[in-house]
Amino acid sequence: MNIHEYQGKALLKEFGAPVSRGVAIFSAEEAEAAARELGGPLWVVKSQIHAGGRGKGKFKEAEAGEKGGVRLAKSIDEVKEFASQMLGKTLVTVQTGDAGKQVNRLYIEDGSDIEKEFYLSALVDRATGSVAFVVSTEGGMDIEQVAHDTPEKIHTITVDPATGAMPHHGRAVAKALGLSGDLAKQATDLTIKLYNAFVSKDMEMLEINPLIVTTDGKLRCLDAKVSFDSNALYRHPDVQKL
Ligand code: GDP
Ligand code: MG
Repeated sequence: MNIHEYQGKALLKEFGAPVSRGVAIFSAEEAEAAARELGGPLWVVKSQIHAGGRGKGKFKEAEAGEKGGVRLAKSIDEVKEFASQMLGKTLVTVQTGDAGKQVNRLYIEDGSDIEKEFYLSALVDRATGSVAFVVSTEGGMDIEQVAHDTPEKIHTITVDPATGAMPHHGRAVAKALGLSGDLAKQATDLTIKLYNAFVSKDMEMLEINPLIVTTDGKLRCLDAKVSFDSNALYRHPDVQKL
């Protein structure tokens, strides 16, 4: 079972992982209040569909404009304009197939100033039943492509379920991402929080692409794709009703 980005980020936030502030909206009338609440000066207007590649996607309808499914807005008027253009329209991405998916919800986020983009995912290693983190300095790109072209840039860190995530796992993630000092400490912290979220919620797969470093030196989960083990969902009525 998949959930939307904004729902995934709300879960990650419960476990203390850093995400941007944001407001989910279902109609263009809600855009202005959402934008005002966040305050600016930069906003991101993000299509909420169960498919990735939204940023580079294209809308079928001409009225939706030329831009993709993730748009940076520099004013409240622009947030309103993008919201009315995008809601109800059909977004086609590399993951939707030609039919595309209708955008019925948007997530308006406080825009981040990005210094670096990384890739981080966690998944269940079926062979061992343990959780493996897959990380790469090549963020914001299609990870299959990175695995094909530059496999040496992908690092896997496996966590023994008997111990759970320990600081040394976090330090291994930090090292793979080339982080030191305070950022390495943040990465260690984040690894443990993501592991706890993953295990507590019976996630099957968690993908943060990109995980960013902001220009003021903070790690932040800028995107979140979360899927669950449907067989375990009876334990999670909060997730089941999303
Ligand atoms: P995806 O295309 O479906 O993977 O959606 P993402 O959430 O990953 O957004 C696509 C891209 O938009 C990201 O890789 C970033 O480059 C960009 N983006 C998203 N949020 C922000 C933001 O807060 N600030 C800036 N500057 N760019 C952003
Ligand atoms: Mg992404």
